Amino acid sequence: MLSLARVTKVYPNNVRALEEFTLDVAPGEIVAIVGGSGCGKSTLLRAISGLDRPTKGLVHLDDEVITQPHEKIGIIFQEPRLLPWLTVAENVGFGLAHLPATERKERVARALDRVGLTDKAGVWPRELSGGQAQRVAIARALVPQPEVLLLDEPFSALDAFTRTDLQDHLLDLWADSKPTLVLVTHDVEEAIVLADRIVVMRPRPGRLFEEIEADLPRP
Ligand code: ADP
Ligand code: ADP
Repeated sequence: MLSLARVTKVYPNNVRALEEFTLDVAPGEIVAIVGGSGCGKSTLLRAISGLDRPTKGLVHLDDEVITQPHEKIGIIFQEPRLLPWLTVAENVGFGLAHLPATERKERVARALDRVGLTDKAGVWPRELSGGQAQRVAIARALVPQPEVLLLDEPFSALDAFTRTDLQDHLLDLWADSKPTLVLVTHDVEEAIVLADRIVVMRPRPGRLFEEIEADLPRP
């Protein structure tokens, strides 16, 4: 269980980006957090990922308090952030250095197959389209089988067709190990397509406004 208990973030310039934010996300649940720009969505994801510490309040994953980046928590950003000096396959296997080479290769091959990029294993990131690069980023984030995967506007930079395609790939890969997903997006339709539950953040920084259950079936 991922738990945020009264998480407050005040930046040094006194902007109160999160105010007593409380949220529990069950294992395997897909929660979308929607809200306008500036309402604290990225701040929230940085707190959950351990990239930034809250001013007050705690983020728990099971029995652990998250205070720094953690192997059980993966993150996908709007841009793929692939390492340009590594091939596609090396990028996907980057977080698996601790595994024996055969297992690493097998997991990478499987993940690339799932995102339809088996034929791109040996190419450099600069040779990929934006959508292909983001598919590699999804594979890389899921291949270590994190308990929680955070997604910060992961499809916003893509055209509508590519976005739909990637949502399918994400759900496909998610089904392998069913991690908890926390998706931040300004795209309400995307939230409805992907999420079990939608949390709306108000423009007033960090205030949780309303929760609705998405009752549409996933594609
Ligand atoms: P209250 O005075 O009861 O906290 P609110 O309108 O602030 O009234 O909150 C109503 C509900 O929404 C409560 O269950 C509260 O926990 C939740 N809530 C409000 N704001 C937030 C927030 N920023 N983060 C998480 N939960 C919130
Ligand atoms: P969102 O992702 O919803 O657009 P952010 O979490 O990026 O919102 O920002 C929430 C608020 O915190 C905004 O008012 C923003 O200007 C402010 N903010 C974000 N990052 C910083 C920072 N590093 N220093 C100061 N203020 C920040």
